[in-house]
Amino acid sequence: MNHLASGHCTLCRGNDFKILFDREFRVLLCKSCSLMFIGSGDETDLEEYYHDGYYYGIKKNRVDGLSTRRRIKWLSPYLDDWKNKQVLEIGCGQGHLLKAIQNQGARVHGIEPSVPDSLIAGSLSGHENISVCMLSDFQTDVVYDAVVLIHSFEHMPHPMMTLQQIRPLLKPNGYLFVEVPNFFSTTGFYRKRKGVHSYPSPNHLFIYTPGTLIAMLGKNGFENISSAYNYHNMRLVFKPGQDRSAFMESGATFYKKVWAFFLVLKFVAGVKNLVYRLLRLFKHRRYTNPATRNK
Ligand SMILES: [Zn+2]
Repeated sequence: MNHLASGHCTLCRGNDFKILFDREFRVLLCKSCSLMFIGSGDETDLEEYYHDGYYYGIKKNRVDGLSTRRRIKWLSPYLDDWKNKQVLEIGCGQGHLLKAIQNQGARVHGIEPSVPDSLIAGSLSGHENISVCMLSDFQTDVVYDAVVLIHSFEHMPHPMMTLQQIRPLLKPNGYLFVEVPNFFSTTGFYRKRKGVHSYPSPNHLFIYTPGTLIAMLGKNGFENISSAYNYHNMRLVFKPGQDRSAFMESGATFYKKVWAFFLVLKFVAGVKNLVYRLLRLFKHRRYTNPATRNK
């Protein structure tokens, strides 16, 4: 079921939205809390996109040693003694980060619904350490020192429910690490598609700002203890704690800032696309050269 089937915002229950994108699917911005999400009226179209391999998993599954090292550096201060720490990664993909965490001395477990990806993850970290399922079907007696969500939270259709499922998996002094795309960058909203930055990813069911992410976790009993940003990503660390979703009060004014930023983003993406099209015109002869075309 579509998360917008009720017609209400998942985060604040509001029902007044601004449309940011309206093609095969819609991206909406909640005027009360500034949460952005895909609110497709037609699920058939959305399904089609989900099965479009063009989008899914390309970045996530790329073996990227540098990103893995940076993520280990990000996690390290919170798990300074990794030995025997229990770490759960939800949506571990092909398990490259999970393997790196295991190499630090931690005991790891990964959840990955994709069978081909989970097989690769299993071959890296041990098949007994990977569960091929959705989080809602995951069963364990272990309580974890850390739960890691790397570019998976924005794909989850029921984030509030997901957080309620994560909460009991985490020790009271444990940490929840969440990395999602940085909305405040040109790659945060639009994805590159056939060279052009003009489509939001239909797989990103929610587009978070730091404010909406902190509010959503706050509502589910997680307290934000650190935030870091780079060009593509935002990385936030949470621990079980008090509801500090006071942000919600100012969400309505914040929405105007998000909207203004979106207009800037749209303009920048438009300029990029224009430059791309012009360059393509100049390069046209090279692309159609039969000597290189069939390689
Ligand atoms: Zn809302």
